[in-house]
Amino acid sequence: MTQKQSFDVLVIGSGASGGWACKRLAEAGLKVALLEAGRPQSFKNFTEHQPPFELKYRNLVPEVVRKTRPIQSEFDICTEYNYEWFCNDLEEPYSTPADKPFHWLGRLRMTGGRTNVWGRVSLRFSDFDLKSADFDGYGENWPLSYKDIEPYYDLVENYVGICGLAEGLHARNFCFATGPRRSWAGR
Ligand SMILES: Cc1cc2nc3c(=O)[nH]c(=O)nc-3n(C[C@H](O)[C@H](O)[C@H](O)COP(=O)(O)OP(=O)(O)OC[C@H]3O[C@@H](n4cnc5c(N)ncnc54)[C@H](O)[C@@H]3O)c2cc1C
Repeated sequence: MTQKQSFDVLVIGSGASGGWACKRLAEAGLKVALLEAGRPQSFKNFTEHQPPFELKYRNLVPEVVRKTRPIQSEFDICTEYNYEWFCNDLEEPYSTPADKPFHWLGRLRMTGGRTNVWGRVSLRFSDFDLKSADFDGYGENWPLSYKDIEPYYDLVENYVGICGLAEGLHARNFCFATGPRRSWAGR
């Protein structure tokens, strides 16, 4: 007999956004279900430290990757090591207006989404970004300012362990509240 389960919230996608939403909602006492289109992630998939000669094609045959990821493989981050983390361009095509071609790179289909490949540069948006129409006259300002979101940057950065230097730019471009951390490997 099929057992029915009910949830308070359904989160679609387990990337940084969905993952954080799940954490906060679950901590608030809600029963959360998370739906992820990609395959489960596992430590054994992290093979980037293996020498190429241990790979089937020595990471020297880009045609193998291009066969199913002709667009994703334009991004040099998508290689024989990890191409199966990226969406299969043939199975998940998309269209763009004829006069506005766009190659949508870095589409991950994996638990954790793009956190699996991101570059770990943690810049904050500042009022230059959020209120840019005031500076250059283009587009619309966001209805919130840096001051509104600053506490949330603090919250997430402290949790994740983001650290860096106070560069004295328009917003703190790196969180420096926690100071440098030990490497994850050393935890
Ligand atoms: C190579 C690379 C380097 C980057 N470097 C940086 C950096 O240094 N600094 C920085 O700030 N940002 C960086 N970014 C951008 C950053 O990684 C992303 O903006 C961020 O991780 C996006 O998180 P997200 O949760 O919004 O989306 P995603 O991480 O894309 O998560 C979306 C998830 O939803 C799933 N999904 C999609 N459709 C469905 C569906 N229909 N049903 C169920 N699940 C679905 C996907 O499989 C995926 O897991 C980088 C991105 C890439 C690709």
